[in-house]
Amino acid sequence: MASISMDEVQKAFGKVIAVDHLNLDIQDGEFFTFLGPSGCGKTTTLRMIAGFYYPTKGVVRFGEKDMTRVPPEKRNTGMVFQNYALFPHMTVFENVAFGLRVRKVSKAELKERVRDVLQKVRLDPYAERQVSQLSGGQQQRVALARALVIEPEILLLDEPLSNLDAKLRDEMRSEILRLQKEYNITTIYVTHDQAEALSMSDRIAVFNVGVCHQIGTPSDIYNEPANDFVARFIGDINLWPVTIQHVQQDFLLVHIQNGEDITELTVKNTTLPDEGDQEKKLALSIRPESITVSSQERDGVNMIKGTIEEVHFFGSTIHLVVRDGELTYKVNTLNNGGATSFQVGSDAWIELPSEQMRVIPIVSGD
Ligand code: ATP
Repeated sequence: MASISMDEVQKAFGKVIAVDHLNLDIQDGEFFTFLGPSGCGKTTTLRMIAGFYYPTKGVVRFGEKDMTRVPPEKRNTGMVFQNYALFPHMTVFENVAFGLRVRKVSKAELKERVRDVLQKVRLDPYAERQVSQLSGGQQQRVALARALVIEPEILLLDEPLSNLDAKLRDEMRSEILRLQKEYNITTIYVTHDQAEALSMSDRIAVFNVGVCHQIGTPSDIYNEPANDFVARFIGDINLWPVTIQHVQQDFLLVHIQNGEDITELTVKNTTLPDEGDQEKKLALSIRPESITVSSQERDGVNMIKGTIEEVHFFGSTIHLVVRDGELTYKVNTLNNGGATSFQVGSDAWIELPSEQMRVIPIVSGD
């Protein structure tokens, strides 16, 4: 079984608690991503799964088996490091064969397995090249081949694309997904790049300062962020401190402060935070693409008249900043191909659809 579970795991380095109270269940064959800013504990968690670090507290299991203190060579995990950690003066073949030689695999089998994996990563014509003579993308493929050749049950990838340029990164994303499906291998992918996480993963765990804030599918994390940290870290968002005035069966009536005034909005009542979270300060959140905008006057619930303060043209989309008093709204709208009627200084009517807004707890200090 290549499922992985972590139960109340903590890792301390002296006084630094790198990871705390971590509970994770990763399914067999899943593509699971650890996402978060630098220093949040992603690599430390990956290393506890690889066995390079043992947890200070808690239990790590593969299937039912307790792996908490099992050394790395007895774990059947393959790892790709951020800097690839290849032997630059050895050939591609020898780099990939290394793990098999350590495992004393027979010569004939070794040759077959290395050839087979090199074919899968499309490097067979380069088998006899020295690694130092390869491009960054090719070196990345060697690192993947080296991890896969030992036929691990679990593939661990630590920011594998961060040293590649944007075009190669796109190519390698597809390549990694193809290989993951072909080998049907439980994969954990570490990144600080939210677009990478959203586009590749079955599920994502979002970390900040040693704490896992949310685990969910890309659409859960994007559409239903657990708190203001997740909402901000994943894409662009409008967030305002909010108070709940009335709770009705279907709707919440909420207030956001607009200078001396109050802006009153109606929010669909599926988004009321859990009881424990209601003690915390709350924010109202809505994605810029969920706000609709028109340069024509219109009426309706949650309709606000503002003035366009900024217009940014991105080709397929147009990003606006609309001001109403002290409040500004980020609004992204599709470019319909015609001349845009959105000009700085002109009036705009924006609508905040009640079912697109969420009331979420504020966990960030600021
Ligand atoms: P990055 O994206 O920068 O690699 P990360 O999310 O992977 O960051 P970790 O490398 O897991 O973060 O580090 C988490 C915290 O633990 C940081 O505060 C880091 O300084 C600390 N830390 C990590 N490894 C050690 C170590 N060997 N000794 C002491 N502190 C460490």
